[in-house]
Amino acid sequence: MKKIKNQNIIVSYNSDGLPSLDTNTKLVRHQLQEMRSIVYGIKYLAGEIKTQEEIINDVPRSRVSMCGNTLGINKDTEISLAYTKHNKNAVVSGVHKCGSVWRCPVCSYKISRQRQIELYRLFIAAQSVGIRMSFITFTIRHDKKHSLASSINVLNESFRKMQRNRNFRNNIAPFYFGLCKAMEITYGANGWHPHLHVLYFHNSNIEEQQQESFCKNICSEFFNQKEVKNRGTRLKNQVWKIVDNSQDLANYISKWDSSKEIASANFKTTFQTKKGGYTPFGLLRACRARIKGFDMRAVYKLFSEYASVTKGKHHLHISKGLKDFGRLFDIMITSDREVLDVNVEADEILYKLPVALWRRIYFRGHIPELLNLIESCENNQEAKKKVFYYLKDNGYLLQRKVNIGSYDELILLDDLYLKKEDFLKKNLNYVNSGGGIYANV
Ligand SMILES: [Zn+2]
Repeated sequence: MKKIKNQNIIVSYNSDGLPSLDTNTKLVRHQLQEMRSIVYGIKYLAGEIKTQEEIINDVPRSRVSMCGNTLGINKDTEISLAYTKHNKNAVVSGVHKCGSVWRCPVCSYKISRQRQIELYRLFIAAQSVGIRMSFITFTIRHDKKHSLASSINVLNESFRKMQRNRNFRNNIAPFYFGLCKAMEITYGANGWHPHLHVLYFHNSNIEEQQQESFCKNICSEFFNQKEVKNRGTRLKNQVWKIVDNSQDLANYISKWDSSKEIASANFKTTFQTKKGGYTPFGLLRACRARIKGFDMRAVYKLFSEYASVTKGKHHLHISKGLKDFGRLFDIMITSDREVLDVNVEADEILYKLPVALWRRIYFRGHIPELLNLIESCENNQEAKKKVFYYLKDNGYLLQRKVNIGSYDELILLDDLYLKKEDFLKKNLNYVNSGGGIYANV
C-alpha cells in the first residue's frame, strides 16, 4: 500500500490500485455522528413541508416524511439493524428511503458523502497523471423580484447555450475532457441565489498559461450570454480558481456538500453561510432554533417553493468524459439509489426488528442516537449488547419469562409487537437475560 499525504487529507492506494479516502479518524467519526443528529432533527421538519403539487393533489404525506419510516411497508417486512465490517457504519435496511437529494437532509447527506469520496478519488487519480483542474463559479444577478424558478432557468439555459456556441466549441472545449457541475442554492437579503460550481478536468497537455486563459475565456463566454447580461450580471462575479492541492478541492466540495456547510463554525451559531445567506437546510435549522424572522410559516413558504422548483433537477452532474476517465482507475460513480440501498451481509446484522417497533423508534426520534451508539462500539458483539440495553432503558422491551427450549428466561420485545408464537415462527431475535445475546434463532 502506497500512502500519499497531501496537506490535511491522507489518501491511500489500496493494493488493488483504488485510491481511497481515509475517513477512519476519531475526529471524522465524531463529526459524522454530530451531523447525523442534526440531519435527522431537520428531516422531521422537512417532512412536514409539501410542494405546491403535493398541496394541490392533496397528498396526505410528503415524500420526505415517508423516508426512513415504515409507512407503506408490509408489516411482515424485516428491518435489519446492521454494523458494516468494512466501513464500521451503522446501517438500517428494509425501510423506505426517499432519495430526494434536494429536499431530504438525510438522503442528501448520505449521497453528498459518497460523491465527496468519489470526487476525491478522481482528484487523486488526475493528480497522479499530471492533469490540471479549474474551479469556476457561474452566477447571475438576482433580487427579491426574481423567483427561484426563473433564476434557475436563466442559469441552466445560459450554461447550456454557452456550451453550444461556436466560440466555445472551438476555443474552450478543446482544453478539457470532463467536468463535475453542482448547483448551490442560497436565500438571503436579495432573495434566492442559485449558482453553478463547476470543476473542469483539463487535457493533460494544457500549460499553466493556457489554463488561466481558459478560465478567463469561459467566464466571459458565460457573461456574454443574452439572459445573463439582461439581468445586469457583472463579469467580476464569475469567479475562477486553479485547483492544485487537496485544500482547493475541499473548498470546491464545501460549496455543495451539505455536511460540510452544516459543520462549519459560522453555520453552527448563525445557520448562515459565510456570505450571510441561508441554504435551504439552513432555513430549517434557523426555524428549529426559533431564529427571529424564520417561523414555520415563513420557512414553509420558502422551502416549499424550493422543493417544487428543484424537483427533477440535477444537484450534481459528473460528465461522461469524467466517468470514462474514472473507469481507467477503477473509480465507479454509484447511482443515488445504490448509495441509499446498501446491501448488508448476514453476519453484519445485529437485530431484525419488527416493523411496529421500528415505527416507535422512528417517531420517538431515537434513530440518530441508536446509530451513533452502534458506531461507538468496537465490534458486533458489543454493539448487540449496547443496542439491547438502549432499547430496554428506553422502554421498548418488556421483560417477560417465557419457556422456550433450553432457555428458561428470555427477554422478549414488547409483547404488543411480538408474541411468543410469532417469535418462534418468524425466526426473530431474542435476548437471554443472563447477558448472552443471540440472533437469528
Ligand atoms: Zn430521504
